[in-house]
Amino acid sequence: MGLSRRNFLKGAAAGGAVAACAATATAPADARENKALPPKAVGLLYDSTLCVGCKACVVACREANGTHPEFSADEKLWDSPLDISGYTLNVIKVYADGTADHKDQEKDGFAFVKKSCMHCVDPSCVSVCPVSAMQKDPETGIVRHDPSACIGCRYCVAACPFGVPRFSWDTPFPRIRKCELCSPRQAEGKIPACAEVCPTGATLFGPVAALRDEAGRRQGLAAGQVTTFARKTVGSSDVHEKAIPTYVPHIYGSTEMGGTQLLMLAGVPFEKLGYPPLRDRSYAAESETIQESLYKGMVGPVVLLGGLLYAVHKHTKNDHEED
Ligand code: SF4
Ligand code: SF4
Ligand code: SF4
Repeated sequence: MGLSRRNFLKGAAAGGAVAACAATATAPADARENKALPPKAVGLLYDSTLCVGCKACVVACREANGTHPEFSADEKLWDSPLDISGYTLNVIKVYADGTADHKDQEKDGFAFVKKSCMHCVDPSCVSVCPVSAMQKDPETGIVRHDPSACIGCRYCVAACPFGVPRFSWDTPFPRIRKCELCSPRQAEGKIPACAEVCPTGATLFGPVAALRDEAGRRQGLAAGQVTTFARKTVGSSDVHEKAIPTYVPHIYGSTEMGGTQLLMLAGVPFEKLGYPPLRDRSYAAESETIQESLYKGMVGPVVLLGGLLYAVHKHTKNDHEED
């Protein structure tokens, strides 16, 4: 004889009670906070108002990383990448509006902007990588990619809020490439190549805390006030004088996605330069909290299923014994 409807409902109620107890015992997951800046974090401060668009940093980046030039026109006269790629890890782009007469002005003006890895404090590329090929150095905070561990899934490409990791599709052995803050050069006691060659100090290297202070100092001065700007490394004695421009009152990277180790100053709103407003909470913190909740939340349904199977088994057995 089959399981009767009455006995099944009885069993289901019993199983449900067990599951309810289990679900109650499963506390909701605590939200994972954004990760903190590592103690010896280093990075770059890019000041768009100091940049003259010479692209010396693009060439120096190529030399440091052994990549070939890329061309955006049929005539291959000049290294002219339009964006970062599997071969171009650093690019200087141009914003232009109307007559483009005035530097660092939104209307009828123009401005330069750097694009390269932001070295996020809490990077989503690291969070999603299933084989830990993307890693953030616990001391310096530099986000590096290990090609020998990478399986080419490109989760990091999809997860990066800044669209940074790129895949070199056109080679027999494609790989992920991105700026690694010139880690090999730093290991030799050198600074990143882009900061080394920048003639105006628009790209400045140093400890992130000092770069934040320097960005704050510049923003705290009145527009038009003449001050000194260091070249190469924050705090260096290699300086030049220049009047403070009218800055957008925000240091990009100070809060976005939990903060980044590449910080930016500009005279044109960041969204016009390709850097839209982003929330403070990192995607990594959000997604890892949800994952944790899902895993914990699965306990209840599994126990419910177990309870139901047990109830069905028990009452089927009872029904057989009644037969
Ligand atoms: S080297 Fe300096 S000034 Fe020249 S494009 Fe790069 S950031 Fe701008
Ligand atoms: S910018 Fe993208 S690739 Fe760079 S650390 Fe952040 S998430 Fe990773
Ligand atoms: S730090 Fe090195 S790899 Fe990164 S943009 Fe500068 S030169 Fe290129």
